[in-house]
Amino acid sequence: MTKPVAFAFDLDDTLYLERDYVSSCFAWVAAALGRPSAKDALETSFDKGERDPIGVLCRQVGIGDHDKQKMIEDMRAHAPTISLLPDAAVLLSQIRERGLAFSIVTNGRSVTQRCKIKALSLTDATVIAVSEEVGAAKPDEAIYRPVIEAFPGARCVYVGDNPSKDFATPNRLGWLSVMRLHNGRGIHAQSIETPAEWRPQRTVAALDELADLISGVASDR
Ligand SMILES: [Mg+2]
Repeated sequence: MTKPVAFAFDLDDTLYLERDYVSSCFAWVAAALGRPSAKDALETSFDKGERDPIGVLCRQVGIGDHDKQKMIEDMRAHAPTISLLPDAAVLLSQIRERGLAFSIVTNGRSVTQRCKIKALSLTDATVIAVSEEVGAAKPDEAIYRPVIEAFPGARCVYVGDNPSKDFATPNRLGWLSVMRLHNGRGIHAQSIETPAEWRPQRTVAALDELADLISGVASDR
């Protein structure tokens, strides 16, 4: 009997573009400050490589550290305007149509990652492992463990975008590791000039290329 496939996905720059999340944050901040035009200034500043565009803006408009921190906390809890990349949407609907399960394994703050997961309508994931909640971040094995425990005996597949943290542990655990190429649209570089054990076993330009992994396994569940 074919083993059932258990998909686990990274979130940022794998299922949606993190840059879109950044834009959503900038729009939220501009609205919170009552300065809609500030969104463009924040975008420009970010694209020029400024690491803290919101901090720069706050200094310019005379917002102190305390108020800035409060605003950033509220921003992290905003409902972001983001959407699944089209190929991710296709694969996820195929997975759901087949009655297969999927999981999310993501590094980040609980509040921001949960807001993204809700905005992307991914709350039906069987396992949602967020590093702040688990107390361990990729590549620590502890963050992948809930998936192993939820799907004993399954053929696990981890789909991510970042060779510096996503694939080493899935490789060691005997999972299939898959990197989605984002052709420069992602926040992080995708150099595979990393040791062999950190590299993905498979690379795809679009997630729906993984449809072969789900075909023929529906009867196993
Ligand atoms: Mg990522």
